[in-house]
Amino acid sequence: MLNSKVALITGGGRGIGRAIALKMAEEGASIAVIYSGNRDAAEETARAAGEYGVMAEALKCDVSDFSAAKTVVEAVKTRFGTIDILVNNAGVTADGLVMTMKEDAFDRVIAVNLKGAFNMIRHVTPIFVKKRGGRIINISSVAGLIGNPGQANYAASKAGVVGLTKAIARELSSRNICCNAIAPGFIRTGMTEGIDSPLIGQIPLGRMGTPEDVASLAAFLASDGAAYITGEVVRVDGGLAM
Ligand code: NAD
Repeated sequence: MLNSKVALITGGGRGIGRAIALKMAEEGASIAVIYSGNRDAAEETARAAGEYGVMAEALKCDVSDFSAAKTVVEAVKTRFGTIDILVNNAGVTADGLVMTMKEDAFDRVIAVNLKGAFNMIRHVTPIFVKKRGGRIINISSVAGLIGNPGQANYAASKAGVVGLTKAIARELSSRNICCNAIAPGFIRTGMTEGIDSPLIGQIPLGRMGTPEDVASLAAFLASDGAAYITGEVVRVDGGLAM
């Protein structure tokens, strides 16, 4: 259970982030839903989370913006009193073959997926260090573990998230801060809408995952039961990348 914990979830308005917000709310955590574009979706997630009797609010922040990340972390701390759980879920794709990939497509994906996670960790960490505790959960991808054609930028960003996770885990373990990554495979969300990959037919469990498949692991990694797990990368991929 996550009673009286405060969870900050980036990109929480839809897809995997929304499922994590609702699962953590169900387990008793207050929820700060961070969104960059779709305010209505984020407010709807906050409303649905609030139905579990917890405090839940939507706050705007483009995670790739260092100073905006600082401002939103301060805002969450002011409104909720503290932060116990950071979920770096916000992510984008800009797929294309490397031979024709535009520079901006590479930079933008790294800026959101990798630097965005750094930005949030950078500003939340002083709060965690001061209270000598906290959980960081970074959403990577199996693309960051085994690569994926057409996703050089995305795979690089998600592999970077794995390195970030392990460095942070080592750096902050003496302060009782755990940092882990989740590497989803093919999960049914807006990001994978209309996707047609031969890899889908190779998933041992024979189906794409649901956002809830990922959310249950995120809630576990945030719980007391996961207090001795840090620097780990857990695949939620139906066995695809084993
Ligand atoms: P999604 O597109 O439904 O959700 C992504 C969320 O991130 C959206 O709410 C979006 O508004 C938000 N976001 C994007 N840029 C942002 C920014 N600059 N600042 C703040 N928020 C921003 O996709 P999803 O499938 O729910 O993906 C969630 C995470 O899971 C991503 O990091 C993604 O890379 C990862 N992932 C997804 C899959 C999959 O199959 N769906 C597989 C592996 C990893």
